[in-house]
Amino acid sequence: MPRMIFMNDSLVPEHEAKVSVFDHGLLYGDGVFEGLRSYAGTVFRLDEHLDRLYASARAICLEIPLSKDVVARAVVDTLAANHLADGYVRLVVTRGAGGLGLDPNKTSNPQVIVIADTISLYPREYYDRGLRIVTAATQRTHSAALSPRIKSLNYLNNIMAKLEGLQAGCVEALMLNHKGEVAECTGDNIFVVRAGKLLTPPPDAGILEGITRNAVLELADQAGIACREATLVRHDLYTADECFLTGTAAEVISVVEIDGRRIGAGVPGPVTKQLTEAFHSLVKR
Ligand code: PMP
Repeated sequence: MPRMIFMNDSLVPEHEAKVSVFDHGLLYGDGVFEGLRSYAGTVFRLDEHLDRLYASARAICLEIPLSKDVVARAVVDTLAANHLADGYVRLVVTRGAGGLGLDPNKTSNPQVIVIADTISLYPREYYDRGLRIVTAATQRTHSAALSPRIKSLNYLNNIMAKLEGLQAGCVEALMLNHKGEVAECTGDNIFVVRAGKLLTPPPDAGILEGITRNAVLELADQAGIACREATLVRHDLYTADECFLTGTAAEVISVVEIDGRRIGAGVPGPVTKQLTEAFHSLVKR
């Protein structure tokens, strides 16, 4: 059975799912995307992902040719067509094919693509023991150059930092903004716990406002854990009691070492564990 991909208006077999070499998504990273996840047949926070997708598109003057309802149905149908109850969905909207110049006005037919796949998780031991990460020298894109709140197809900034992490033997890397403040990791948001309170950088630190981040903020609130957005520098991370990352693929994962400094006791801490369990109950796993 070939994998089925949603392309614009219908589900087609993988080998028929093709975009033009003139598509500005390919030529310039001109487009937007989302990564979503389904648990036991239900897409987690589908509306929030669609809102973020349409907001990203709005910010780059890209008119998505389908309504939110139609795209929502496409996500659900693509998962079903591939018999995936627990899966990962990549939703991509490209600018469409045009000339070899940058001009987006000379493109047509934005491509709406939905790919459903099995979810490739970090190995179990990463969750049990926590991650080691390093700070990348590559700064997070300055928001005056390109707002990190836009989830665009241009991820080279994050990839450069990811390479630094991988070269240091780490699967994630910390990114700072142009002021040297903590922003986020290459594909995850970051939190610290200090004296039982949760802290995370605000959107204007130059982050993508993660949907998992928002869910964890809500869960902390419900559990009576004080949480606030705060400007953080690396010293705040090195001296925190606990640190963890959040993201659609990673969910909630502990960080136990940053730049060779052991964080807290060097093992996943109690608040991280509590929020991990709360997140699992939220997605009913
Ligand atoms: N930051 C970046 C740069 C990301 O790409 C992502 C998504 N992979 C996140 C944070 C986490 O966002 P979400 O919880 O919505 O997946």
